Formats: sequence, C-alpha cells, structure tokens
Amino acid sequence: MYNIEELYQEIIIDHNQKPRNFGKLATATASEEGYNPLCGDQVTVYIEFEDKVIKAIKFSGSGCAISKASASLMTESINGKTKSQAHIIFNNFRQMITKTADKNFDSNVLGDLEVLKNVSEFPARIKCATLAWHTLKSILDKNNTVISTK
Ligand code: ZN
Repeated sequence: MYNIEELYQEIIIDHNQKPRNFGKLATATASEEGYNPLCGDQVTVYIEFEDKVIKAIKFSGSGCAISKASASLMTESINGKTKSQAHIIFNNFRQMITKTADKNFDSNVLGDLEVLKNVSEFPARIKCATLAWHTLKSILDKNNTVISTK
C-alpha cells in the first residue's frame, strides 16, 4: 500500500516550490496550452526550436504540486534534446506513469523523472503528472516545420 506522503518526495516538493524554467519564453517559436479539468491544472509550454533541437523550453501556469513538479522536471529533462529524443522520453514517461511499460521501456532515459513513479499508484493524479507532457507532445506533433508565433 502507498500512502499520500510517499507521493510527495523531496524532489517533487522542491520542484513545486522552486519550479525550473518557469515563466514565458520570449524567444519561443512554438507554444501550447494544456488544461486538466479534473484538478484545475493549467499549463503553457513554450519551446524555441533550432532546426530539430529544443534549444530552450519554459512553462507557465498554475496547478497542484504534482502538475507543477512534473512540468518543471520535464523542462529539465527535455532541454537541449532533439525532437526524436523528446518523443522517446515522452513515451517512456507515459509508460511509467500509466503502468503500460512494453518491451522497449527504458528507465535509463528517465533519470530524475523516476521520482514521479509513485503517481502511477494514484489514478486521480495521473492526469496532473501527464498534463505538461501531453502539451509538449502536441507541440512536437504539430511543429514539423518551425512555426513562428509572432
Ligand atoms: Zn493536479
């Protein structure tokens, strides 16, 4: 059995209180908004692409500790990666959170993201943890060419 305290590990609390890469990204070439009506979490993800590389990523919005910590951890994990690397991290993260790991699951690409593993024991919080990720995914899927938001 898992209790709620186990969900809020130190790293999660730290990322909630001091989110990394938080705020608007002035140089963004793409952005998307995400909303989780079950909890009220809102997030906007901003990415500056340079060719196929995520040169910079930031997020803004408001939400519960899990949604904010997950978005913060995501920006650290994705920053500097290529689009295909970002897709791989997304897939592994989703598999971890939804307990749908297949034979290609590779926890090595997750790093610090593994602190969110216990979220999979709390179905009501899974959407909180995946909100920023689905927002990222929709940017990656849309942004096959570099789009200017100006
Ligand atoms: Zn939430």
